[in-house]
Parts: sequence; C-alpha cells; structure tokens
Amino acid sequence: MTEQLVDITFVGAGPVALYGVFCAGIHHLSCRVLESMQEVGGQLATLYPEKEIYDVAGYPKVTGRELVAALKEQAAHFPAQFVLGRTATTLSQAEDDTFIIRDQNGEAYPTRAVLITAGIGAFQPRTLPLPELERLTGRGVSFLVSDPERFRDRSVLIVGGGDSAVDWALELVPVARRVILIHRRGQFRAFPGSAEQLQRSPVDVRLYHELVQVLGDGVVQGAVVVDNRTHERTQLDVDDIILALGFAPNLGPLRDWGLEFSGDAIVVNTRMETNRPGIFAAGDIATYPGKVKLMATGFGEVATAVNAARLYIYPESRAPGHSSALKLG
Ligand SMILES: Cc1cc2nc3c(=O)[nH]c(=O)nc-3n(C[C@H](O)[C@H](O)[C@H](O)COP(=O)(O)OP(=O)(O)OC[C@H]3O[C@@H](n4cnc5c(N)ncnc54)[C@H](O)[C@@H]3O)c2cc1C
Repeated sequence: MTEQLVDITFVGAGPVALYGVFCAGIHHLSCRVLESMQEVGGQLATLYPEKEIYDVAGYPKVTGRELVAALKEQAAHFPAQFVLGRTATTLSQAEDDTFIIRDQNGEAYPTRAVLITAGIGAFQPRTLPLPELERLTGRGVSFLVSDPERFRDRSVLIVGGGDSAVDWALELVPVARRVILIHRRGQFRAFPGSAEQLQRSPVDVRLYHELVQVLGDGVVQGAVVVDNRTHERTQLDVDDIILALGFAPNLGPLRDWGLEFSGDAIVVNTRMETNRPGIFAAGDIATYPGKVKLMATGFGEVATAVNAARLYIYPESRAPGHSSALKLG
C-alpha cells in the first residue's frame, strides 16, 4: 500500500522529531513520523523514563516521561501522521524528485523531503539465546512495560539489573500478584536510590540467578532459573517474563541511503543538509564540528532543518514569524 504524499517525513519519533512536528506545523508543512518502536519519545521513553532531567530550557526539573508527554502535547497543535512499529528501511527517489521510504513490510511513504531524526538508531531489545523466547514473545514474554495494567494480578518474572529492570519491578508491585527479579550479578547497575527502594519493597529479589528455560507451549507457564554460584535450579510459577536487558541501537538500513557518515552519525552542514539534496538530519544522528549530543542542541537543529526543508520544497516561500504570531488552541 502507498500512503499519501507529505512535505516532510521524520525518520524516528524521539524528542527531536516531536519538536520538529511542531516546527513543521508553524511552517504549514504536512508531515509524517515513522517510528520503529510502539511508542514515541526515543531514548527518553525507552531508556530513562523516570530519570530527572535538569538541562532542558524552561524546565528546572522534568522526568523523561513528563518531557515526552509535554512534547506530544506541543506537537499536537498541528496534525501529523504517526506510524508506530515501522522501521524506515529503504529509500528511493522518483523522477519528480520526491522520495519514497519503505518500511520493513514494504509499505511506501512518499515525501517531498526527508528529515532523519533517528538518534542512535532503531532500538532492538537484547535477548537471551533461548529458542523458546522467540516463540513466546507476545505470549507472556515481553521486553517493555508500556502499560502496567497488562500485568494486573499476574505473577511476573523480570530479568535484568539495570534501571529499567528495577524501575519496572517497583512499578509492577502495586498491580501484579507477585514480582520476582533475577540478576546474574551480586549488585544492581541501577540508580542507587531505586536499588535501595527495591530492597525495602516486596519484590522477590534473587541475585546471582539466570534464566535458563521458559516453560509453556502456547503461552508462558513458568520459568527455570539457576543460581550461578551453586548451579541449583529452581522452577518458578510465573505468567509473564520481562527481559529488561536493554536495547541495542541499530543504524542498519540508514547506512545504505547514500549518506555521508562520520562514525555513527550523518554529516550535515549549518542548514542541517546532508550530502543528498532534500535529505536533512537533526538530533543525535546528525554531526558537524563541535557537535554536542543533547536535547537542547537537537531542538535547535530540528528548527533549522525544518526551515531548510521548507526552502528546499517551496523555494519561493517566506518564513512565517515565530510561534507567538499564531493563535494556538
Ligand atoms: C541514560 C541517558 C541519559 C540522558 N540524559 C540526558 C539529559 O539529562 N539531558 C539531555 O539533554 N540529554 C540526555 N541524554 C541524551 C538524549 O536522550 C538524546 O540527546 C536525545 O534522546 C536525542 O533525541 P533524538 O530525537 O535525536 O534521538 P532518540 O531519542 O535516539 O530517538 C530516535 C528515535 O528514532 C527511532 N529510529 C531510529 N532508526 C529508525 C528507523 N530506521 N525507522 C524508524 N524509527 C527509527 C528510534 O527507535 C528512536 O525512537 C541522555 C541519554 C541517555 C542514554
């Protein structure tokens, strides 16, 4: 299926793209956002939703989750099509110079300009080499807690020792029937405050334990864990297993789009133009001499990139004034 032609397609829906949607709206440009995860917010939503952030202008203190909610609200001033769970995979250009991005399912997204806001790449959850995990993914095995209610009254095993593992264990205590957390080492890598909170919580914490088998045919019915000091195996009666082992970013397909890279980032000029006319980049994925990978930087870059994309698409257009010249609901 081919979607409608839009002015700008953002590749990635991290904080920079969310602000970019707002900027596109100010410029009266139509836009679409492709995001490989099932939710928007990029690293903030996936890696550190509860971390407090102190260096975003206008926010003395804000958590990752709160900032994503605010960016979504700001973006919602203008219409945009968000396509979640889709990874931008290939890029081609038609004779009239419009671009066609295709996702992993071959669906086509025509666009006049492309704005790559892919951060550190598409996140892929880290997993374990157990064949049953793949078979039971979505049937009791998951990699994220996007909706704690899904775990209401269930017995949940969380595997991992970082911030996500500890935060999710604490988040599920009030909803789940039982929460067990295993970690293969003797200490958590999580924020010390959260690890202390965990010790005081009813979470059944088992250090030096590893997942070695998932039980169940159609759905998860249990798990076998092993104490890596004694090799003693224990069978746990659980309904859900959350693998909180982190996400490995993968720039994969973007490397084949004919763009100039420097390390893991795309080289841009001061207008955020890449080496290919009509393709722009902003945020963590973009680089130039002196680049600092921060949201504050990315927000400025995407404002510049959207303006440059407007001039690329509509060379005769004049820039509208700043946002206070508009009346927004
Ligand atoms: C632990 C941690 C703490 C941090 N703390 C701070 C802080 O305090 N202050 C600060 O300013 N910055 C902080 N940062 C950095 C900040 O998170 C990044 O600068 C910011 O997230 C960059 O935003 P972005 O939109 O460019 O990219 P990202 O947030 O990486 O979002 C990119 C999105 O693009 C998607 N994507 C990638 N490739 C594709 C594709 N091919 N198709 C579809 N979707 C794709 C990804 O899934 C992702 O959702 C921190 C980072 C980490 C890891």
